[in-house]
Amino acid sequence: MIKNIFSKTDIERLGQVIDGNKMFVLTCHAGPDGDALGSTLGMAHYLQALGKEAVVIVPDAYPDFLAWMPGSQEIVRFDKYGEKAGLMIAMADVIMAMDYNALSRVDDMGALIEKAKAVKVLVDHHLHPDAFCDISFSYPQLSSTCEVVFRLVMAMGGYDRLTKQACECLYAGVMTDTGNFSYGPCTQELYLIVSMLMQKEINKDRIYNKVFNNYSEGRLRLMGYVLYEKMRVFPEEHAALITLSREEMKRFDFNKGDTEGLVNIPLQMKGIYFSAFLREDTEKDVIRVSLRSQGTFPCNKFAAKYFNGGGHLNASGGQYDGTLQGAIGVFEEALKEFPRP
Ligand code: 5GP
Ligand code: MN
Repeated sequence: MIKNIFSKTDIERLGQVIDGNKMFVLTCHAGPDGDALGSTLGMAHYLQALGKEAVVIVPDAYPDFLAWMPGSQEIVRFDKYGEKAGLMIAMADVIMAMDYNALSRVDDMGALIEKAKAVKVLVDHHLHPDAFCDISFSYPQLSSTCEVVFRLVMAMGGYDRLTKQACECLYAGVMTDTGNFSYGPCTQELYLIVSMLMQKEINKDRIYNKVFNNYSEGRLRLMGYVLYEKMRVFPEEHAALITLSREEMKRFDFNKGDTEGLVNIPLQMKGIYFSAFLREDTEKDVIRVSLRSQGTFPCNKFAAKYFNGGGHLNASGGQYDGTLQGAIGVFEEALKEFPRP
């Protein structure tokens, strides 16, 4: 059995918010990943099955390998259709903040969400959520926001209303946030949840192929280039670093999502427990920082101390205001100074 982890009061409040309202806007963080899209679309399908109007609004583009998700055709992109999205946010009865813990993670959409009169509900698994919602379901100990969504639906007695389409979205989020069940909290109960998703006849192998065996030629060549030419290994520190400039991304016909997962690869090396990826943002003059670790090395503390970021123990991120060279310098110094893995 999947245990209920929520308080009775919270579930009752959520039930009342859903029953008593009509127009739902579901939002996720900028640079949406599998869990961000899976949780917003999964929740949208569930609400639609209850007869509600539910619209997914995302801050900006998402990768092509997620475009198969049922309902993705109806997603409204804020960066493209700001006016329409702004109206929907202003008119919504309920806004759900899915897979993010602070308004800063939704870029310019944040100010509009803050101003909106809607009831705001947070559904997330990132640490230290800001208090910008009326009801908050924040569970950093869970694998993914999709897992939180599934558990909420169960707690509200809504499993029968979960369609195959909803389950495909939720499965995709769990699968991507755990690297196909290879890291993060893959608990016994998570496998029970997977089994309940499979009861709705989702095809998990098809979903795997859609997400992980669907790369462009450019992406694969970029991977080869990065590993052969760009990866630096620091054996003493049990660490590796990959860097990428805008120019290099252009050379490989860079598309949104093409660098996703690159930061995990160096961890496949024997003796490497900490991996960092620094890349120039494709639009803004800022360096994006992704950090991954194995074991107890606290990526989130490293991100917070040197790169104005945070996240989970083994997966975190941040940014650096300056040049790529500058960020590399900060990383090298940090590596000397920070306790080794
Ligand atoms: P990614 O490397 O995939 O961009 O981010 C991995 C994780 O790091 C995210 O799921 C999120 O928890 C965290 N993260 C990324 N960027 C930031 C940031 O700027 N601030 C904070 N607090 N966390 C971040
Ligand atoms: Mn997530």
